[in-house]
Amino acid sequence: MTDYPKPPFPKQSQPVPGAQMKMDPYPDCGEQSYKGSGRLEGKIALITGADSGIGRAVAIAFAREGADVVVAYLNEQEDAQETARWVEQAGRQCLLLPGDVGQKAHCQALVDKTVERFGRIDILVNNAAFQMTHENIEDIPDEEWVMTFDVNITAMFRLCQAALKHMKPGSSIINTSSINSDMPKPTLLAYATTKGAIANFTAGLAQMLGPKNIRVNSVAPGPIWTPLIVSTMPEEDVQNFGSQTPLGRPGQPAEVAPIYVLLASDEASYITGQRYGVTGGKPML
Ligand code: NAD
Ligand code: MG
Repeated sequence: MTDYPKPPFPKQSQPVPGAQMKMDPYPDCGEQSYKGSGRLEGKIALITGADSGIGRAVAIAFAREGADVVVAYLNEQEDAQETARWVEQAGRQCLLLPGDVGQKAHCQALVDKTVERFGRIDILVNNAAFQMTHENIEDIPDEEWVMTFDVNITAMFRLCQAALKHMKPGSSIINTSSINSDMPKPTLLAYATTKGAIANFTAGLAQMLGPKNIRVNSVAPGPIWTPLIVSTMPEEDVQNFGSQTPLGRPGQPAEVAPIYVLLASDEASYITGQRYGVTGGKPML
């Protein structure tokens, strides 16, 4: 807990979607630390936004637990290749699939290509997201509002709908929500609204899929040091990122991944419909 970097961080800013390669300090995705113990042996996982940040940490952890991983991402080729390198170093297969999950056809293609390569899906992690900071509601372009919903929540519906045809009893869906789901930051109005929707969607879908023995949960991170932050938040906020938490620092992606492993594993057989906070001590409602 005491070894991870604390603010203030160097001033930095990047265009969306951000490159993990260029971040200082470099986020810790568990590359040197995560130890697997066969908890996901032989499973097939499709993870969106797995090129960087939380998604990369989840991909590395899943691979070390014995899963083959499909890494879906927007266009960050170098970051995605770095994730693939770690998955393959763990002795597992990695399929890289770039493209925009805001497009219905791409959601279907992600599922089709995963099934074409691996034959089924055991774990679906809906983790890709867009956010942008705006001080006033008047400043939010209509297209950006709609796009935020397309990428963050509608893609989740489409991916679940398409993937479920290939998911057997015992499979697990994990959706990345946020502490913003019920503690909305006003400057992230569209994003926070989608994160509330994700928590609600998760609780509803879990009840629908219970009889099919498919579990659905969400994870609600607090401030985590990732490209999403340096590419969408004001520089001063980036410099002090995480300072408001009881731990006085942002979490690293490596500190979020273990809960995804638990929720994906057969050990979580009675855990469904829940939302798990990883907030560095910030209370959620
Ligand atoms: P990240 O930038 O590393 O990951 C987000 C990924 O989403 C990107 O790598 C990108 O490839 C993908 N993406 C964005 N738009 C896309 C699109 N249109 N089509 C396909 N992929 C697209 O950042 P992260 O912080 O690891 O984000 C992962 C998840 O964690 C997100 O759902 C985010 O909302 C959530 N989250 C992050 C924080 C935080 O503080 N970093 C806090 C709470 C929740
Ligand atoms: Mg990225």
